[in-house]
Amino acid sequence: MGEQLEEIYESMGIGRAVYRYGEKIAGLLSERFGQIDAVAEYNQVKVLRAMQEKQVSEACLLGTTGYGYNDLGRDTLEGVYARVFHTQDALVRPQITCGTHALALALMSNLRPGDELLSPVGKPYDTLEEVIGIRPGRGSLKEYGITYRQVDLKEDGGFDYEGIRGVVNERTRLVTIQRSKGYQTRPTLSVDRIGELIAFIKGIKPDVICMVDNCYGEFVERREPSDVGADMVVGSLIKNPGGGLAPVGGYIAGRRDCVENAACRLTSPGLGKEVGASLGILPQFYQGLFLAPTVTAAALKGAVFAANVYERLGFPVTPDGRESRHDIIQAVTFGAPEGVIAFCQGIQAASPVDSHVTPEPWDMPGYDARVIMAAGAFVSGSSIELSADGPIKPPYAVYFQGGLTWPHARFGILKSLQSLVDQGIVREDDLAESRI
Ligand SMILES: *Cc1c(COP(=O)(O)O)cnc(C)c1O
Repeated sequence: MGEQLEEIYESMGIGRAVYRYGEKIAGLLSERFGQIDAVAEYNQVKVLRAMQEKQVSEACLLGTTGYGYNDLGRDTLEGVYARVFHTQDALVRPQITCGTHALALALMSNLRPGDELLSPVGKPYDTLEEVIGIRPGRGSLKEYGITYRQVDLKEDGGFDYEGIRGVVNERTRLVTIQRSKGYQTRPTLSVDRIGELIAFIKGIKPDVICMVDNCYGEFVERREPSDVGADMVVGSLIKNPGGGLAPVGGYIAGRRDCVENAACRLTSPGLGKEVGASLGILPQFYQGLFLAPTVTAAALKGAVFAANVYERLGFPVTPDGRESRHDIIQAVTFGAPEGVIAFCQGIQAASPVDSHVTPEPWDMPGYDARVIMAAGAFVSGSSIELSADGPIKPPYAVYFQGGLTWPHARFGILKSLQSLVDQGIVREDDLAESRI
């Protein structure tokens, strides 16, 4: 059996040294993978229970057209999301075009001129800079007279409680907390830590709305930020909760008034959640959500594997090979553009779609540096599928995520390593000698 796997890997361009190195690393991770599977089992039943409680029926899988009034499948799905996240309500729509749109919608619909937005966890995700107006953006919150404050994390990654207390004021209306590290090398926040931060902020100002950018965090733990006080959790359906099947979409789950505000902004005042045809998309939304816990587990295993593969070769990795996980992203720092590019080219070559094309860095809308992206995905740009991206700027870190199955994630990571070996960035001798 082992030989056969080695042979098929070889036929796919993975040399013996890389294959054997991968075997050794995978052999060390069985206990860790058992823990990941246990979380997936819990979340699988959580999703199943929500679907049964909301009595998802065959009729829910049909779509509506036109205005989409009385769309049973859409309304039921939103009920399922609300059950999964333990929130009063949810907005789950194909008309929400991406994660940035979902976040912008949640912000713009719940803030009014004169209000202030606070990020107590440092700089938010790159694409939100233009939404907020940190960088000039047409139609930004800033243009509407909504101001922004930021308190950075402390050097050790801790919350700057004193700093936060100092900036919360009578205009502070909404606090945005990004769970995942995004394109930064700071640690991702656990649900526990998010809960502590929310409790602290509500202790200063009870009526402030706490929103969590939940991108990449869904189903990584048993609890979600909405279980520890978040008024809204927001994310993209082409990441974890879409399970790889949702071809588009975003969600906002949270307090009824917050979700209603968002719906009135997405559609129109007076129409709110009542309109918005689901067309033919609901089977993928339902089935994707159903698969999301195990798909997320596959991606997590890939991330842990990648951390161990690269850490033992001497590259800084965040999180490290042992620490607990709170999102599916793995950062590997190469310290030079060549490493980022070789890694991404290896991931692309491991893809089921477009494996024959070679990615190059380009000026992506919304980002301030050139970015290279490897994404040979069934759904364009989907990052729950095996993918990697990295801005071409110091410290030259690559962000790896996804993998719909663990075998594919593993293959992709070994392909990235082979690419680094082929380009002379990693020596084959290092694979044999590395401390395992
Ligand atoms: C992906 C992501 C976003 C933006 O989502 P897009 O779908 O790419 O617009 C926002 N925040 C975080 C933390 C993300 O990972």
